[in-house]
Amino acid sequence: MIYLDNAATTMTYQEVVKEMSQYFTELYGNPSSIYEFAGKSKSAMEEARVTIANTLGASPKEIYFTSGGTESDNWALRSITKTLKKKGNHIITSKIEHPAIMNTCKHLEETGYRVTYINVDENGIIKLRELEQAIEPDTILISIMAANNEIGTLQPIRLIGELAKKRGILFHTDAVQMYGQLPIQVNRDNIDMLSASAHKFHGPKGVGFLYVRESVPIAPFILGGSQENHMRAGTQNVPSIVGMALAAKMTHETMQNRMISTAKKRDYLIRRILREVPFSRLNGDWKRRLPGNANISFQFVNASELLALLDMKGICVSAGSACSSHSKKPSAVLTALGLPEEIVQGAIRMTLSDETTMKELDYVTNTLKELVADCRKNNDEYLAF
Ligand code: PLP
Repeated sequence: MIYLDNAATTMTYQEVVKEMSQYFTELYGNPSSIYEFAGKSKSAMEEARVTIANTLGASPKEIYFTSGGTESDNWALRSITKTLKKKGNHIITSKIEHPAIMNTCKHLEETGYRVTYINVDENGIIKLRELEQAIEPDTILISIMAANNEIGTLQPIRLIGELAKKRGILFHTDAVQMYGQLPIQVNRDNIDMLSASAHKFHGPKGVGFLYVRESVPIAPFILGGSQENHMRAGTQNVPSIVGMALAAKMTHETMQNRMISTAKKRDYLIRRILREVPFSRLNGDWKRRLPGNANISFQFVNASELLALLDMKGICVSAGSACSSHSKKPSAVLTALGLPEEIVQGAIRMTLSDETTMKELDYVTNTLKELVADCRKNNDEYLAF
C-alpha cells in the first residue's frame, strides 16, 4: 500500500500510541477527581496544555481541548458571534474554507448574521484588498484558513491578522492543515483564535484544540461540568490529549527538516507528472503551498474512475478533500479558482508525509502514466482532440 492521503489523516506515531496506552490501563483516573491517583492524569493533561501552548507562543490557559478541527471551528465562530452580537453581526470568510467553517457560516446566516465570502485568485490566495474592502462598521470577525485542505495554498495570515488588529476585528484561523507542518505563532501572526486537529499531525483521531487569546470573550460551547475552565464540559480525553501533545512536540522538533525534505519530494513528484503525463496541470500556487501537497488535474479523465484504478494498484489518494470525496458535487475550492469543469473533475490530491519514499513516488508516477492513458482510451473528447 502506498499512502498519499496525509491531508485526510496521518499515521499515529508509534511513540504516541505507546505514551497514550498507560493512560488507559494504569493512569486512568478522572482528571477532575481530587485524590492523588487522579492528580497524575490531571498533571499529564496540564503538561500537554503547556507543550501545545509553547508550540504557538501562547499561554497554557489560552488552550482549550476539543474533539477536533470541526468542533474547534464551530466553537470559535458560534460563540464569538454570540458574545459580540451587540457590537455587530457581520463576518468575513473566504470561498475556499473547509465545510466545518462553510456550514457554520451558513447556519449563522440562517440565524440573522451576514457573511461575506471573499474571492481567491487563480492560485487560491485571498485578495487582501478585497478583504479590506469587505470590512464594514459592524464586522466582528474574520475567519480565513491558514492552509487549504485541497490545494495546500497558504494564505498571508500574518497580513490578515495585522489588518484585523488595525481595524479592531477578531481574527480566527483554521490551521488544521498547517499546524505541525509549518511554523505558526499567535503573537507574531496576530491570531486571536486558532483551530487544530491531532490526527493531521501524527496524533490520534477525535481530539484537537482551540487557541483563544485571553482577551477574547469566548462563550462556553458544551454545558455541564466545570472542565476546561467552565468552557467545554465533559470529562477530558486524557490519553488522546497526552498523545496529541507528544505528536505536537515531535512534529515541531523535526519541522525544519521535514519541511525541506517533504517539499523536495513533492516538487519531484509534480515535475515528473507534469513532464510525463500530457494534459496535466498543477492546481494551487506552486511556491506558497504546504510541503506535502500535490493537487493535479488530468484533462479528459474522471477523477473518481482514476481513484478506483489507483486503489486497485494499492495507491491511496483523494479527489478533492476526503470529506467531500463521496459527494458527486464538483470541488467548490477548484471551482472558486475559476477552473473549467473538465479540469475540476479530473483533479486528484496526493499528500505526502515525511515517510513517503522516492521509490514510492516513482511507482505512483509510472502507474499514473499508464492509468491516465487507459482512462482516456474511452474518452470521445480526447479521441477527437
Ligand atoms: N478544517 C480543515 C482545513 C480540515 O482539513 C479538516 C479535516 O479535514 C477539518 C477542519 C476538520 O477536522 P476534524 O477532522 O478534526 O474534525
